[in-house]
Amino acid sequence: MYRIRITDEKNAYELTELAKMFTSADSLDISLVSSDAEAADLIIPGQDEMDRNAQKRVLFSFLAEKTGTALEWGTLTGVRPEKLFTRTAAVLGSADKAEQKLKEDYLVADSKLSLLRETYEVQQSVKRDMDPHAVGLYVGIPFCPTRCLYCSFTSNRFTEKAAAAYLEALFKEIDAVKDIMDSKGLYAESAYIGGGTPSSLTDSMFQDMVCRVSDVFVRPKTAEFTVECGRPDTITESKMKSLKTANAGRVSINPQTMKASTLQLIGRQHSPEQIREAFGIARSCGIKCINMDLIAGLPEETASDMEDTLEQIIGMGPENITVHTLAVKRGSRLIEEDKDFAFRQAETVGNMLDIARNKLGKAGYRPYYLYRQKHMAGNHENTGYCLPGTENLYNMRIMDEDQSIIALGAGGISKVYYPAEDRLERVANVSNYEIYIDRIDEMIERKVKGL
Ligand code: SF4
Repeated sequence: MYRIRITDEKNAYELTELAKMFTSADSLDISLVSSDAEAADLIIPGQDEMDRNAQKRVLFSFLAEKTGTALEWGTLTGVRPEKLFTRTAAVLGSADKAEQKLKEDYLVADSKLSLLRETYEVQQSVKRDMDPHAVGLYVGIPFCPTRCLYCSFTSNRFTEKAAAAYLEALFKEIDAVKDIMDSKGLYAESAYIGGGTPSSLTDSMFQDMVCRVSDVFVRPKTAEFTVECGRPDTITESKMKSLKTANAGRVSINPQTMKASTLQLIGRQHSPEQIREAFGIARSCGIKCINMDLIAGLPEETASDMEDTLEQIIGMGPENITVHTLAVKRGSRLIEEDKDFAFRQAETVGNMLDIARNKLGKAGYRPYYLYRQKHMAGNHENTGYCLPGTENLYNMRIMDEDQSIIALGAGGISKVYYPAEDRLERVANVSNYEIYIDRIDEMIERKVKGL
């Protein structure tokens, strides 16, 4: 047990979050100083003596030594390190200076600095206009065929009855959002249908849904339209043809791993062979840009499993490959079964991510966006890699937080961007899909007021 005392309250939350990255909450006794005589392993001085970054460095050094853990992201606890890097480079005038600052102030390791730098260079090469009338549009379909072991999202088992009621409410919201956007002169620069697994819908429901989104929101000025078809066993020729009809040029097919026994273990009902088949169907139907998601740190997987998965995926030739770090969050079956899983996986995941960066680099893929989440094994990151010229604009924008996102469906959180103040305001839909259906008029009202 590490007894840590914080002298003043101001940064207590962030300091506690940093401590939880090193070890489980059960091993931490962390609170404000209550008396001078109190026994403690570490007392962090207050703001009158040092600033927040210095306080975090004191805590970091103490826990790094005690736990023997080297967190490569240093004292950074935020979700968007690339945004920090880009803005620091803009303020200081160069990427070199941003690297130096992140190294000294936040103790970020060289491995992560080089990832940030490469991602920064790719992002700088992608032309992104700042049109105040352009928004990112997100539509959520909260159904999946089964629930994965590590899932903590808004996902529900697909039934035709539930999906039909959901789509009815969603279409109502789509029509209302169209009116709001038209009245304000807004258009979708990018459209993204995610989930859940949108392709859990039946062929005809899927067609209705993607065509509706396309008819209402996809304009000649819309740069890209992406649809997640995450589970390979939900992909059919009919659905891929619907995507072509709807002008959706990007699809995400997410194997997570190519190891058959892991697929079973995490609750997926498909084989590696079905992943290859799904990929082939998408290609034969003319889908030009395919993303594939992988996860580093799945139960019982080793670095050589990751290597094997990468080789198979690269061999298929997707344009984008996103390498996630397993996040073991509250609400997942995995954390109920093994609450310390993420901490034990730290080293393995670090090796897997190194292998991925190396192999993908050799195959011509470059990192173009990255983000972190809480409860990630080893506190690493998720990185989107792509072949040059195939960057996904929606993914970059959402991490930059410099454009409004309008999100429809259960769990959708719209973010309205105010450029003058560089500030976002959230307008949230409820996450439970049944409540969303019941209260659809209220969800629409929230958008009328908030957007
Ligand atoms: S496919 Fe994604 S959303 Fe669906 S259960 Fe698995 S992790 Fe959750």
